[in-house]
Amino acid sequence: MLKSCSRGGGINIQLDTDILQGFTNINININSIIIGLTAIGIITILTIPSYTFKEKIEEHQNWLYDMGFDFLEAVGLVVGMILVQHIFKFINAGDSANWFYATTQMTLMLYSLYTLQNYFIDLVNIFAPLYIFGHHLADGNMTYAVFFISILIVLAITVIIISIDKNTIQDTEWKYLSLQVIYGGIWWILIWSIYKFSILNTFYMLIGFILYMWPIRFVSTKIRRSLNELSKRINYDELTGVRNRGNFDEMSDQIFNIYRNSNKPMTLAMFDIDQFKQFNDTYGHLAGDRVLRHVAKLCHHQLFEQTRKGQLFRYGGEEFVIIFRGLDSEDSAKIVNQIRNEIINDPLSYNGDKLNVHISFGVTQLTATDQSFDDLFKRVDHYLYESKKSGRNRITVEDETFLFETGI
Ligand code: GH3
Ligand code: MG
Ligand code: MG
Repeated sequence: MLKSCSRGGGINIQLDTDILQGFTNINININSIIIGLTAIGIITILTIPSYTFKEKIEEHQNWLYDMGFDFLEAVGLVVGMILVQHIFKFINAGDSANWFYATTQMTLMLYSLYTLQNYFIDLVNIFAPLYIFGHHLADGNMTYAVFFISILIVLAITVIIISIDKNTIQDTEWKYLSLQVIYGGIWWILIWSIYKFSILNTFYMLIGFILYMWPIRFVSTKIRRSLNELSKRINYDELTGVRNRGNFDEMSDQIFNIYRNSNKPMTLAMFDIDQFKQFNDTYGHLAGDRVLRHVAKLCHHQLFEQTRKGQLFRYGGEEFVIIFRGLDSEDSAKIVNQIRNEIINDPLSYNGDKLNVHISFGVTQLTATDQSFDDLFKRVDHYLYESKKSGRNRITVEDETFLFETGI
């Protein structure tokens, strides 16, 4: 029905006389399997570094690192697409003409748009049609130019909508499907404007795109979930769900190196639950566990509401540390005071009893004389000890101890 060859690097379309027969052929076509596996391989290669390094890079809070990494990801996507093009040409003896090829490229782009938090990927998505079909504009046909640019604008809006709201969209099946239909529809209208195949074929190709992306989305969701779970198991405490000691040790040196050379302050707070052993002794170990979870939850809640700069870690037993980025000890102490008030105002109910939890704090700021993170840590540990020694339910900020009730 339609057979067309491109003039220069564009996506070519070649359909069998019977499109449905084309679908059946594809099912048993070994070349399609090769391309499908290549696409999954590229997706895996793009996904794993993103999930492994992204968090580490964000910890540096350096926009240059962020941008550099995002740029490399986008380069990875473009290289992946070119690779698919070459493999396709190779296995099809020099012919890159097939709807399956176009669908693979679309899938790679849409997948990256959803998975990678990256503005460069958005740009690749928006400008890909210009790169692939832009040469048709050189014909000087004004009507076509207006049509092409309008389509490009609609594509840009769609890409931006997906980019802004990707998490909600991915969690809502109908939204995900509608946007995939719109995204695919835009591309097939563009391809149709050059190759003029029938509307029915466009419809079939759209269904093809949805069917194609389904297993890829399935595999990628599985990869993403297992990477997230792995990272959770390594970096988070099983009982309380907050970051663990291992993560603290790993992060502390990085943070020290960032803030020792920065003019922004950084503060460390450490707290320990007062007379915690009594909860275990009076109500049992499970009650003790509940207290730990309750305190961690309230503390995390306050940090999340008050500032995104505080990170909570369970250091061990009933001891926790908080790293306040960009805050001095005075401002950090104010947040600490609010955390403590929330814990006092919201006692844990256990078997009809209200368990009142008191805590003691040490707070200190990184100084120019600190030679290593250990110097800072020893100081905060000592201040916490001072709070305990002075009678508990206290906060020691830079060697000055205050009883909590009197405020600071
Ligand atoms: P202080 O005010 O001096 O801090 O007294 P404390 O009773 O809180 O401190 P102590 O070090 O005497 O006791 C801490 C107890 O915490 C001992 C340990 O059995 C218990 N503990 C440590 N980890 C856990 C845990 O994961 N769950 C429970 N339930 N108890 C724990
Ligand atoms: Mg204690
Ligand atoms: Mg303790």
